[in-house]
Amino acid sequence: MKKISLQVQIVIALVLGLLFSIISIKIGLPSSLTIKYIKPFGDIFLNGLKAVAIPLVIASLIVGITSIEDSSKLSRISTKTISLYIITTIFSASLGLIIANVIKPGKMIPKQTRNRLMSLYADKSVKAKIKANEAKKENDGFLQTFVDIVPDNIFEALTNTKNLIQVVFISIMFGIGLTKIPSRKSKKVTAFFEGCNEALIEIIKIIMRFSPIGIFSLISTMMIEVSIGDSADGGIYEILKGLLWYMGTVFLGLFLLTFILYPIILKAFTKVSYKDFLKGMRPAQLVAFTTSSSSAALPVTMERVEKHLGVSEEVSSFVLPLGATVNMNGSSLYQGISILFIAQVLGINLSISSQISLVASVTMASIGAAGVPAASLVAASMLLESIGIPAAGLALIFAPERILDMCRTVTNITGDAAVAVVVASSEGELSKGADEYLLEHDNY
Ligand code: ASP
Repeated sequence: MKKISLQVQIVIALVLGLLFSIISIKIGLPSSLTIKYIKPFGDIFLNGLKAVAIPLVIASLIVGITSIEDSSKLSRISTKTISLYIITTIFSASLGLIIANVIKPGKMIPKQTRNRLMSLYADKSVKAKIKANEAKKENDGFLQTFVDIVPDNIFEALTNTKNLIQVVFISIMFGIGLTKIPSRKSKKVTAFFEGCNEALIEIIKIIMRFSPIGIFSLISTMMIEVSIGDSADGGIYEILKGLLWYMGTVFLGLFLLTFILYPIILKAFTKVSYKDFLKGMRPAQLVAFTTSSSSAALPVTMERVEKHLGVSEEVSSFVLPLGATVNMNGSSLYQGISILFIAQVLGINLSISSQISLVASVTMASIGAAGVPAASLVAASMLLESIGIPAAGLALIFAPERILDMCRTVTNITGDAAVAVVVASSEGELSKGADEYLLEHDNY
């Protein structure tokens, strides 16, 4: 009998998880049962992915940089990558603002729903504001993003998944350092990281074998937890109905990025068919969707991009860890739309010039935000204050946050992978047919 591929197993797990949660809410199964007996499996899966994220970023960046022997090649790859990341992030933030100006979702929300949301989520928005304030440093100008990239203590930075950008920075510097010393001294160190890298990829394969169970658990627990929080107040569905225009605007933006912008970029710079690209990326997208975290999905994204899209390890190990922390197109689009939506609901008019400077701040904020759940919400709360909109307005966008987070994370990692494919193709580092070969020979 033909074995069901992992991709199909994951989709089945997702659907079963949804069905399970709907049925258990309907029949009134105590949520504590799900939390006690189902949630732990999701936690184990998520912890496993998170645990390998930091070592993988370190090993893969060091291996990636030291394997690019020619320093002009390294600077070419990094220039292309960083340029593409910045251009697509600015484009996404601008797209968000444009479509929010055209659709004006904030004008569609009934006053009654607005008041209800403000009172219901007031608490949460205060908490997000406190978090944002904690994150704020003495210098909160736009250069703060760069200050945050450089850690003052390497060892402390290496223990915090939220500081992945600092880990990226340290690893890049270490890799560059290794290329500068005589190879007789660097050889052993590089070989060590190469070994670590390969072992970590094997660990990821093992973790991914359990992904259907993990994903079933994550999705059903999330649905049940959301319903506990809101059903007491008369149901989240009524509120979501009021926010349909807002959610629709975000979905439209994400759709345009994922199904128009990325295919155009791939078509313009590579010969890769977008259908094959999406097929290769599917398991990583499903992990991003269920975990709402680019960092947690990073190990899977790397494995898919290398083994199934044919991007060389040299390129993927540089482009992807960097992308997981700095390139968040879905998030910058989301922040743009959310801020404008809140301003519209509160009747605050943002002039063209303040919207243009908002594009710059959103770009910086999404570069600085970590690839973890709800990172954009904290970023949005900081931006709101800085442009004179009360952060309490955040209460308006809490209800659909989780689902929007899940979707924008998918767009985020898809954008990283698209850039990896473009850079690899431009460097002649894209092996054709890798996908077909692996799909035939490898069930994962
Ligand atoms: N959850 C997103 C990610 O990890 C970040 C965000 O927009 O909140 O990519």
